[in-house]
Amino acid sequence: MKIAVLPGDGIGPEVTREAVRVIEALHLPGLEMADAPVGGAAYKQHGHPLPAATLDLARGSDAILFGAVGDPDCDSLERALRPEQAILGLRRELTLFANLRPARMFAGLEDASGLKPEIARAIDLVIVRELNGDVYFGEKGMRTTADGRREGYDVMSYAEDEVRRIAHVAFRAAQGRAKRVCSVDKANVLETSQLWRDVVIETAREYPDVALEHMYVDNAAMQLVRNPGQFDVVVTGNLFGDILSDQASMCVGSIGMLASASLGERQTAFGTFGLYEPIHGSAPDIAGKGLANPMATILSAAMLLRHSLGLEGQAARIEAAVGRALADGIRGGDLGGQHGTAEIGDAVLARL
Ligand code: NAD
Repeated sequence: MKIAVLPGDGIGPEVTREAVRVIEALHLPGLEMADAPVGGAAYKQHGHPLPAATLDLARGSDAILFGAVGDPDCDSLERALRPEQAILGLRRELTLFANLRPARMFAGLEDASGLKPEIARAIDLVIVRELNGDVYFGEKGMRTTADGRREGYDVMSYAEDEVRRIAHVAFRAAQGRAKRVCSVDKANVLETSQLWRDVVIETAREYPDVALEHMYVDNAAMQLVRNPGQFDVVVTGNLFGDILSDQASMCVGSIGMLASASLGERQTAFGTFGLYEPIHGSAPDIAGKGLANPMATILSAAMLLRHSLGLEGQAARIEAAVGRALADGIRGGDLGGQHGTAEIGDAVLARL
């Protein structure tokens, strides 16, 4: 089992260090971890935010643990050399088409949610968003109509294989959870959504143990704040997923708590190849001060063990240790607490 560790910039190395300590504490037989620079750190050492050696290491691994990229020193560089291009390059080069964002309410953090505590408490869902298609990648442009009006256009489309592969990811994710998938579309209006719905129904036949329902996106947005406890796995296209995943993640609280996975098509010997990262950036305002909350990265490491290494039990242990640390009052600055990065890492390790 090989993990490529790409710490990146700002608080990236600080939070990644704590996640690596947690993985090491599991003493997994046959596990290797190797580091490589990415983002501004890589630009400063090698003149490129995603050097060939870093990409090769990532390609040759079963999974990638990614910190964050972004460095104010690099803001004046041409776009192709900016640190943020590294994450876009990795997604593109490694065909990471499925974005998984879990939203789960940890006991005691209800006050960090914008929802009423009794509603927030029930949240335990994951949004599976398609990342490589939809209206973002269709033909687009600006034109002038015959009568002289300016018009912008973006073509929405999905091919059936694109829908099928993301549906498989969602059904497999559901098999490791409460075995329910809600597919979100706008099939009452959009042809793209009708195809989406048809292909999801076809794919569902391979997963008789998973219950499938469909919901229109406008209703899903409403249900996510009205009764989010009803959802287990939500699968949707790039545009709807972009909006719903932000909405769902902020229903459970702070940026320092939210993990994510971007999965590819390649199956490894142990699971699905993927990249795992906290949803926050490099936070230059607190970098180097030991103030960053590493829990989002530690929870990303748990996702890595679950999806890429097939270690559900170990993933659940890490999540339970984070939950217990929170229940014991361990809080980063993002949650209004006083605990520093290493202190939070120690607290999670002690409970592991
Ligand atoms: P950010 O997420 O880095 O920070 C936003 C705010 O949240 C800051 O006040 C920061 O201190 C705080 N914060 C973030 N993570 C925290 C943590 N773990 N613990 C405590 N507080 C935390 O977003 P930004 O300031 O808009 O962007 C900074 C840089 O990060 C930019 O260069 C941006 O392009 C980059 N960025 C990278 C990624 C990525 O690597 N995937 C994602 C988002 C932003």
